[in-house]
Amino acid sequence: MKKHNFSAGPCILPQEVLKKASNAILNFNNLNLSLIEISHRSKDFVEVMENARSLVKELLNLPDGYSVLFLQGGASLEFLMSTYNLLKVDGKAAYLDTGTWSTKAIKEAKKLGDIAVVASSKDEGYKSIPKNYEIPSNIDFFHCTSNNTIFGTQIKNFPKTNGLLVCDMSSDIFSRQLDFSKFDLIYAGAQKNMGPAGTTLVIVKDEILGKSGRDIPSMLDYQVHISKDSMFNTPPVYAVYVSMLTLEWLKNLGGIPAIEKINEAKAKLLYAEIDRNPLFKGYANKEDRSTMNVTFNLTDDSNKETFDKIWNEAGIVGIKGHRSVGGYRASIYNAMPIESVQILVDAMQQFEKQIS
Ligand SMILES: *Cc1c(COP(=O)(O)O)cnc(C)c1O
Repeated sequence: MKKHNFSAGPCILPQEVLKKASNAILNFNNLNLSLIEISHRSKDFVEVMENARSLVKELLNLPDGYSVLFLQGGASLEFLMSTYNLLKVDGKAAYLDTGTWSTKAIKEAKKLGDIAVVASSKDEGYKSIPKNYEIPSNIDFFHCTSNNTIFGTQIKNFPKTNGLLVCDMSSDIFSRQLDFSKFDLIYAGAQKNMGPAGTTLVIVKDEILGKSGRDIPSMLDYQVHISKDSMFNTPPVYAVYVSMLTLEWLKNLGGIPAIEKINEAKAKLLYAEIDRNPLFKGYANKEDRSTMNVTFNLTDDSNKETFDKIWNEAGIVGIKGHRSVGGYRASIYNAMPIESVQILVDAMQQFEKQIS
């Protein structure tokens, strides 16, 4: 039976990407060698890395002066690594707390210095994005999370700041048009919207580096990785390759303007049903709703068994809400076709018929 996978991460990837990726395990570039057994210094792999890095710049429309890295350690390591590189020894940074991932970023940053949390939506269960907060002017950087994977909220307007603008875009990078040149540092774990787990994308403005006054361990130093073209040590070759294939797929589709339209159509379809169907209610505030992770609950939890049976039988997987929120979460990342979203909407309507 065909499955409709709404998992929050690792995410689904386009079928054509999975096919090419499987072939490369057995016979990469007709070398009669596996991608995962050739040298990362070989011409064939160096091309993959260069292609992946340049596709990122092209798709995000980045001006000169940015470096693109494919690192390891997940977005979770970037919580610390970004601070190491950007927070001056006696410096200060400001963070916006919009959910679990922001909280974790704040925790790591606090290990290195003075961190101010400028606003938080914690008291209301992270249902909204705080607005109208003040960012102190004497900061090295301001950090925010563009999309809150767990609670289903998304920043629509990024604030102005005197410091550098740093953003964890793990779960919505490449999903919508933004002026990416407004950001000084962007990081994203690949497995939400770009590829398999195992690599982390880092995009950094070169001129901001080397100013923290810290003695940064080599593996945590962006400048070290940049000077080695993202191959300071053995890179996660397979994760980089599959990410490259996904970025090629996105480019052929028409890039971010094209996928943004599709993503908006998918989100509109699903939120419209949540708002129409009396058996459901959305979790996040309407104006802050994510186009990537759609969180919703039953209006009457005693119907849970009935609804769960219906979507299970429709081949739907991965819509159980995060354990800290409960209810349901449908992740509709770039590779999710609108047909699958329609299957979920159909299941919600069948549920309504069955209950009434
Ligand atoms: C999943 C996620 C992370 C953690 O990513 P890892 O790669 O598992 O470390 C961080 N931030 C956001 C917004 C996420 O969705």
